[in-house]
Amino acid sequence: MEADTEAPKDSLLDPSDWGAFAATAHRMLDDALSYIRKIRERPPWKAVPQGIKDSFLIERTPLKGESIDRVYEDFKERILPYPTGNIHPRFWGWVMGTGTPVSMLAEMLAATMNSHVAGYDQSAVLVENQVIRWLVELLDYPVTASGLLVSGGTAANLHGLAMARNAAAPNLRRDGIRNVPPLYVYASQETHSWLRRSCELLGMGESAVRLVPVDAAQRILIDELTLMIGRDRREGGLPICIVGNAGTVNTGSTDDLERLAAVAKEERLWFHVDGAFGALAKWSPMHRGLVAGIERADTIALDLHKWPYVNYEVGCILFRDDAQATRTFSLAPSYLRAAGRGISADPLHFADRGVQLSRGFRALKVWMMMKTYGIEALGASIGKNIEQAHYAARYIDAHSRLELLAPVSMNVVCLRYVHPEVNACDLASLNHEILIQVQERGIAVPSSTTVGGTYALRLAITNHRTTLDDIRAFLDATVDIGNELVLHRAYPVTAERSAE
Ligand SMILES: *Cc1c(COP(=O)(O)O)cnc(C)c1O
Repeated sequence: MEADTEAPKDSLLDPSDWGAFAATAHRMLDDALSYIRKIRERPPWKAVPQGIKDSFLIERTPLKGESIDRVYEDFKERILPYPTGNIHPRFWGWVMGTGTPVSMLAEMLAATMNSHVAGYDQSAVLVENQVIRWLVELLDYPVTASGLLVSGGTAANLHGLAMARNAAAPNLRRDGIRNVPPLYVYASQETHSWLRRSCELLGMGESAVRLVPVDAAQRILIDELTLMIGRDRREGGLPICIVGNAGTVNTGSTDDLERLAAVAKEERLWFHVDGAFGALAKWSPMHRGLVAGIERADTIALDLHKWPYVNYEVGCILFRDDAQATRTFSLAPSYLRAAGRGISADPLHFADRGVQLSRGFRALKVWMMMKTYGIEALGASIGKNIEQAHYAARYIDAHSRLELLAPVSMNVVCLRYVHPEVNACDLASLNHEILIQVQERGIAVPSSTTVGGTYALRLAITNHRTTLDDIRAFLDATVDIGNELVLHRAYPVTAERSAE
């Protein structure tokens, strides 16, 4: 951009010297790229020093501004060095995506346009609809299906469940849940906490959540499911939805989606699939069979900021019946009415299918990622992560000090350190101490969970930067730290903490 000192300055917020602003902007971009390029030179995570934390608390509201260069220096000193760490090759905690340089640039370009994507006649609508069509096709979902980009998996699942609820109780938009019998939603006990949150928010209450037990591979027990549905019906309840898991957060297990779809059809229930990360296994030709049957769902939730490594935030809800989406969400206040022509020809295309009115141009980063890398490369990276999980499982199985706590079916590995002199109770506190030390020493970031009541270290590999060496380095460090702690009995032996 050119320096333009001639033009009258109308805005207080645009730069008075575009040339100087551009120089700062270019420096930021160079720094950003080098920050990402040198990611391996830094630890995955380090604690934010108390002094930095305090500095945010004492800083006054900035009534007067300062130069962007000074603010940028502040960013580099107090903010940039203390991230969650999920862009690092050795970050496998919870299920966090890594992001990509392409996605980062797309965020900048989307911010340049700063489009409002409720609808309207504009390119962003075309881009989002195209991304949705590509996602539909990659899942073998019917071409007539549609969808909407949302903030993430929780929001996507919430939208799916809202459609399920309203399909079962058509007068609910007018009357609320006053006049309906108790509503029930069925899902395995391994289901992510979005389900409870959604049932609470949708007015059905936590008691609407019917958690079905699982088999040894952490998959929903279908006979138990049908028994529960029958019992609830006999007692006057109104079952509305079966939720299938494609990749559970605890162990990466996937329910038998084909059979769940058949049960849902027979019982005339909505079939929703939480495929937050698992749905993306479809992009890897070798692994697409893992989530067979997902295409039979009425609604599918998936996260694009986890596995296809798009930058935060972006998730997607796909729906087989577009009409049920608008029946659930559409409103047409006079100030937003479709004008037939002009910019407002279809002002609410997306806003009529979800809870957000003002929406950003999330679709651009997904679109640029898909086009720049291609689905083959993204799918290969997803497949690589799954193979890394299987590699970890073999390494653990072959090691006398490591124990695999759940079968690896996708990209999640649950393990613990074991030692013949440490009893089962103390293993929980010992492994918890290993977890903390692995994080604090800057070796890696796994997280923890419990599998069948047993404390587990857990890796969820949605990281395109991870190598087999990284996995091995973490497992070896786990053994070394465990041995050290046992040798010095340097872990709490009361073992009150058995669940986390
Ligand atoms: C991450 C996750 C969610 C929630 O998604 P967010 O993007 O964090 O809101 C739901 N289900 C599963 C299986 C997940 O892994």
